[in-house]
Amino acid sequence: MKHRFGYCSIAVFVVGLAVPVAGHTRDLYEDARMAMVEEIEADVRQTSLALDKEALDPRVMDAMASVPRHRLVPDELLDVAYENRPLPIGHGQTISQPYIVAIMTDLLNITPASRVLEVGTGSGYQAAILAELAEQVYTIEIIEPLGMLARDNLEKLGYDNIEVRIGDGYHGWQEHAPFDAIVVTAAASHIPPPLIGQLKAGGRMIIPVGSRFMVQQLVLVAKDTEGNVTTRQILPVRFVPLTGSH
Ligand code: SAM
Repeated sequence: MKHRFGYCSIAVFVVGLAVPVAGHTRDLYEDARMAMVEEIEADVRQTSLALDKEALDPRVMDAMASVPRHRLVPDELLDVAYENRPLPIGHGQTISQPYIVAIMTDLLNITPASRVLEVGTGSGYQAAILAELAEQVYTIEIIEPLGMLARDNLEKLGYDNIEVRIGDGYHGWQEHAPFDAIVVTAAASHIPPPLIGQLKAGGRMIIPVGSRFMVQQLVLVAKDTEGNVTTRQILPVRFVPLTGSH
């Protein structure tokens, strides 16, 4: 696993015309996107012990192969949009590394009927991946300009099953709870109790837990059908901190 903490891998220089083909958009970034998918597959093999699997769900990999990441990064980063590393999106925030997005999504066991909450919309990329797999995605972003831009970009991409809200995701989104799956994409010092409360029995949450300027642990939270909660540490990660007044 080479690039979990954001080191650059391959340089990809492509230009950006989009060509609609049979209902899907073939674009000139397709080769770069496929190279990114191959890198994710290699990283998964290298971390198979921690993940307890050699390959991710093919549905997750199909989503990684189809979401146009280049439409969700700032224009000046178009040429590196498919590098397997986090990228800056302004306001001190990042779009997460594709490998991390893929494993977090995989760990949630999302089905086409799932209703999913994301805390930390950022660029909207993780929300788009989730929306390829789930019935409905609710996503909360605390930095207003980021949330507004993500909402606009996701609308332009045609996602009609994503609702973006501006606010503090620590408290979840009670009106739409309970959720089959919850993903938190910023590091918390603890698992927010409101999110545990809003997780459906039988549901899963994935969240980076740890101190803000240190390596954190990606934690999988599972709630069984009786409502008992268990946690499992998956692997070390580094995320921007979960902010807000909590
Ligand atoms: N999921 C994003 C993507 O695909 O681009 C990446 C998210 S970035 C690593 C973390 C995001 O969480 C930032 O945009 C940050 O502003 C947001 N965030 C931090 N604390 C938050 C909170 N309490 N509620 C909602 N969003 C929060």
